[in-house]
Amino acid sequence: MKCRFCENTAEIVLRRHKIALCKKCYPSFFEKQVTYAIEKKKMFSKDDRICVAISGGKDSMSLLHVLKKLGFNVFAIHIDLGIDGYSDRCKEVVENYCHSNDIPLVLYDLKENKGKSIPELAKKKRRPTCSVCGTVKRQITNKLARENNCDVLATGHNLDDELVFVFSNLLNADVHMLARQKPVLDSRGLMVKKVKPLYRVMDAEVKYYADIEEIPYYAGKCPFARDAATTIYKKWWNELEEKRPGIKANFYFGFLRKIQPILESRIKQDESGLRACKLCGEPTNREICSVCMLFLE
Ligand code: SF4
Ligand code: ZN
Repeated sequence: MKCRFCENTAEIVLRRHKIALCKKCYPSFFEKQVTYAIEKKKMFSKDDRICVAISGGKDSMSLLHVLKKLGFNVFAIHIDLGIDGYSDRCKEVVENYCHSNDIPLVLYDLKENKGKSIPELAKKKRRPTCSVCGTVKRQITNKLARENNCDVLATGHNLDDELVFVFSNLLNADVHMLARQKPVLDSRGLMVKKVKPLYRVMDAEVKYYADIEEIPYYAGKCPFARDAATTIYKKWWNELEEKRPGIKANFYFGFLRKIQPILESRIKQDESGLRACKLCGEPTNREICSVCMLFLE
C-alpha cells in the first residue's frame, strides 16, 4: 500500500481516518491535527506563554515536543510524586529532555514541599491512591502555572483519556463533571486557563508520533495504574474500536458536540463560592481546600 501523500510505502494505517501513511509524512499529519485543535478551540496563540505539565510519559512529552516544534513559547512543570520505582525514572526523562532542548523546567518535589509522598498520603488517609494523586496534581499544576506567569496550562490528555473520563462520569451519572468535560476551561479567579491540545488524537497515534520523532519518554506504568478503573475502561474501548474503527472518536466528539453544551447551559456550576483556602490560599469551594485536608494530621 502506498502512502496517501507520497510515493513511499505506507507503514501506518489509521483506520478511523481511512488512510495509510509513511513514516516521513506521518509527523506533519499529526502536527496538523494538533494545530487544528488549537485553532478550532482558540486554545492559545504564538504570543502566549504556555505552561506544559509533563509527567515523563509519552503524551505529555509529545505535547511539549510538538508545541516547541510548532514555534510556541513553552516552559515545563513536573511534580515528583515520590512513587517508588516510577517517579525517579520520570524525573530523569523530563530533566534530560528539557536540558537538551533548552526548555525551562520548574520541578516540584511533593515530599520536600509538603512532607509526604503520594503513597504515604494515600495510606495515611486510606483513600484510593489515584484519587489522592489527582486532587494533589490538579492543585499544584494550577499553582505552579499561575506563579510562573503563564497564560495557559496545557496537559497531554489525548482522545482516549478524554473518552474514558466522559464514559466513567456517565456511568456515575456525574452531570456536574460532565458539564465541565471539554478541551478548554477558561480562567476564573486563581484558576488558570486549561487546555488539552491532544484531545483529537488517539493514544496509538501519539505513540507513533513519539516513536517516529524519537521523543524520549518513560514507557513504564505507574504501579497504581494497574488497578485504576480507567485502565479497565480503556481496554474495553480498544476492543470495541478493533471491531468498529472510529467508534471512540464518534462517541467522544458526539458528546462534545451534542451533550456537553446542553449540560453546561443547564447546570449552573457553583462558582460563586470559589474562594482562597484559609491555610494555603489556593482556590476552593470550602474554607479549607481538599489538598490541605489531605495533609492535615
Ligand atoms: Fe497518580 Fe494514579 Fe496516575 Fe499513578 S496512576 S500517577 S497514582 S493518578
Ligand atoms: Zn489549602
